[in-house]
Amino acid sequence: MQQKRYRSKGSQLIEQFGKAHKDQSFSAGEIVDYVKSEGLNVNTATIYRSLDRMSEDGLLLKFKPQDSDSVVYQYKGLHQHCDHHMHMRCRQCGKLIHLECEFAAAFIKNIEEEYGFTIEPTITSLGGLCSNCKAAKS
Ligand SMILES: [Zn+2]
Ligand SMILES: [Zn+2]
Repeated sequence: MQQKRYRSKGSQLIEQFGKAHKDQSFSAGEIVDYVKSEGLNVNTATIYRSLDRMSEDGLLLKFKPQDSDSVVYQYKGLHQHCDHHMHMRCRQCGKLIHLECEFAAAFIKNIEEEYGFTIEPTITSLGGLCSNCKAAKS
């Protein structure tokens, strides 16, 4: 896949933030805070537009957690086809794990066959605790 070059400072900062938090989903608000903390004076609407464009370009993953009304983003990096597989999301740290294994694909297919229900990966994430957070708990 061809990597797009982002020229605006805001987009560059978003990319930088995303790369530094690869395993973490973040809200638009967090990005706005980050960009401001870097001393860049951009308005919130511009940041939202950049986030949307970068999601469309496939650089960021945009999704809506079940337990929240606002969308969150995560840097996608090398993960492709995020529209086609589900994700697990840690309720503690927000980490998003790509379910790219065959088992997950078979699960979606079986549900379809068994219940006639189409799981839409873009709006579906499984909630739970990641291994790190579980280890920290015990
Ligand atoms: Zn994915
Ligand atoms: Zn976690």
